[in-house]
Amino acid sequence: MFNLILFGPPGSGKGTQSDKLVDKYGLKHLSTGNLLRQEIADKTPLGLEAKSFIDKGQLVPDEVVIGMVDSFFDLHKDAKGFLFDGFPRTAPQAVALDKLLDLKETGISAVLALEVSEEELVKRLLNRGKTSGRSDDTDEAVIRKRFAVYNSETSAVADHYKKSGKFQSVKGEGSIDDIFASLCKAIDARMH
Ligand code: AMP
Repeated sequence: MFNLILFGPPGSGKGTQSDKLVDKYGLKHLSTGNLLRQEIADKTPLGLEAKSFIDKGQLVPDEVVIGMVDSFFDLHKDAKGFLFDGFPRTAPQAVALDKLLDLKETGISAVLALEVSEEELVKRLLNRGKTSGRSDDTDEAVIRKRFAVYNSETSAVADHYKKSGKFQSVKGEGSIDDIFASLCKAIDARMH
């Protein structure tokens, strides 16, 4: 299996690049943000719980997210690999993911981190908020809160994978195609 984590702050282009990468490499896309938004749209108890956190720019509790990932694995037992987008976001989530993959006798192959300046991120998110229907993209205070959470909790995930030499930064500014080409180059180097 080839299991990739696409890492980076909110607005760094993980969703856009994930769509292209799963097409090219035949990986199963696991976006915890998308799964949570689907739960909200379906008005499930999990969705109702998650919404209160998402609307404030806070993280949904680890056990909720990890349970969702576990169920996703059960649904996609025959996947040839996964692309994790927006997960893991905390050190305990990274540890839980390692354990879940261990049970499948596999592990993380690479962690690619999209690097984008904060000024550019705010611009992109406010722009996305005009059309995405995402309430967490329209309020600049919520956007700033998401960055604060990223810096305080999610950056620990980078440290987790730096220790194993799987972490690589990729420039996340420029054209979508140029960024995609840089990601493919990094993936191909690790696949072969
Ligand atoms: P995203 O679409 O990845 O930007 O996620 C949108 C929101 O969903 C985040 O701001 C969090 O509130 C929540 N969320 C998504 N993924 C996670 C995760 N792995 N852990 C905790 N909360 C998450």
